[in-house]
Amino acid sequence: MVTNSTGFFDKPNDSDCENCKLYTRVNSPKMIPFGNFKRGIMNIGEAPGITEDQKGRPWQGVTGKLLSRTYRSLGIDLFEDCININAVCCHPTDDNGFNRTPSGKEIMHCHHKVFENIQKYKPKVIVLFGASALSSVVGSRWKNDLGSISKWRGFTIPDQDLKAWICPTYHPSFVSREDAMIVNNIWEDDLKEAIKLVDIPIPENTNPRINYIEDLSILSNIKSELITIDYETTGLKPQAPGHRILCAAIAIDKNTAYTFMIPPTKQLRYPLLKLLENPTIGKIAHNIKFEDRWSETRLYQTVNNWKFDTMLASHILDNRQGVTGLKFQTYVNFGVVDYASEVSPFLKAKNASDGNALNKLPELIQKPDGTHLLLTYCAWDAIWEYRLAMKQMELIGYDLPF
Ligand code: SF4
Repeated sequence: MVTNSTGFFDKPNDSDCENCKLYTRVNSPKMIPFGNFKRGIMNIGEAPGITEDQKGRPWQGVTGKLLSRTYRSLGIDLFEDCININAVCCHPTDDNGFNRTPSGKEIMHCHHKVFENIQKYKPKVIVLFGASALSSVVGSRWKNDLGSISKWRGFTIPDQDLKAWICPTYHPSFVSREDAMIVNNIWEDDLKEAIKLVDIPIPENTNPRINYIEDLSILSNIKSELITIDYETTGLKPQAPGHRILCAAIAIDKNTAYTFMIPPTKQLRYPLLKLLENPTIGKIAHNIKFEDRWSETRLYQTVNNWKFDTMLASHILDNRQGVTGLKFQTYVNFGVVDYASEVSPFLKAKNASDGNALNKLPELIQKPDGTHLLLTYCAWDAIWEYRLAMKQMELIGYDLPF
């Protein structure tokens, strides 16, 4: 369940090019990678421009010169130290023969070639220059709204599928168009951070122990100073009639979680209620108010000693819009692009405009293996929250209790 992203290393198919057809009207069809790759950096741009198409190599025009100059100032030779490719291998033109941005379809037609090159060269660091490169390498595996390059730039992602650091940043053509020094400085800083990672292997994630329990009495033995709590519920708000907490997961450290369906009686739920009530155990959640409200409203239990909110901490560490969700934080911090796609369709409300609407999780648990899927998903949420909390506490300088 660590990752469900499959198929990205499928071989390029001749039909991709036949459907795309860009290769039929250019000087340099299906441009091949260029560079001696001595430092293991792969640069992925958008597409060949007119100069690149004439010369048959990437980064030959004005923006290529800006990139080459900037890399040189940081100790990197663009063509000696890197391998250079584009999200789209053929020069896209409009009806008048002028440069144009490649379409989403062209990017998707060509993305198997991009992944084929990643698999062939095995880069240590992949720098994604601009939205098209981001769309090819991340968007083809990302299940949620991708958003703009501004949302992603600056993150250094230890991508577990690609076994490389993914470093999105602005395309040099954007930097050259912007007068503001600040854009130039941000871009240089992004490149500096990417270069630093060349000699650092990506950290690998260990598989946690997920304990699927029916009898909750083991929760009474928890002695951890911090735990994360995650609920899967029938909707967003607990007050509407018919809503309930379906299951919960408690992570007691980075590698251990208990996950269980909420028992039908108060007596059977008692160890959970005592754990929530226990003032000596600090509680963590991703958006505390969600678990807090559902505990109060549906379990009739106040949670004592909330310690840390990983969603709030994400916002403190980076106040850009769209970066605080747990799935996004899991990918940018731990490189797991997808651990939720089997469950995500069931999390959507039947009526999206109604805040009190039921979602489809009750349908999921009626399916063979549906309960196991939901419990596993909930446990992973709790584990990622724990790992994220530990990382954020260190970054923020939070006083760790151990
Ligand atoms: S852009 Fe890519 S998919 Fe399209 S024709 Fe060229 S090589 Fe083939």
